[in-house]
Amino acid sequence: MPITDAYDFDSLVNDAERMVLQELEEQLKTAVDVCTCQECVLDMAAFALNNVKPAYRVSLMGSVYAGSGGQARHAPGITRAVHDAIAKVRANPSHD
Ligand SMILES: [Zn+2]
Repeated sequence: MPITDAYDFDSLVNDAERMVLQELEEQLKTAVDVCTCQECVLDMAAFALNNVKPAYRVSLMGSVYAGSGGQARHAPGITRAVHDAIAKVRANPSHD
């Protein structure tokens, strides 16, 4: 049986993803000259996430593994990774 059928991985979350998306939302409010279509925004998110250290944890009710120190703390480099992602897509959109 595939491991993904044997176990429920929905409670595995990457806090970096949540933080990158929040930061992306903030920066896009003031970003100029950048396409914000579905394709481009997802490209920005993917690019930024590839440049940020992942912060996975297990989010089961009542139990938190992998420590609790990551709470509400911006992982290092998120602001810059998002900034770079926007700049990259601005210079080179995912479509013509
Ligand atoms: Zn676009």
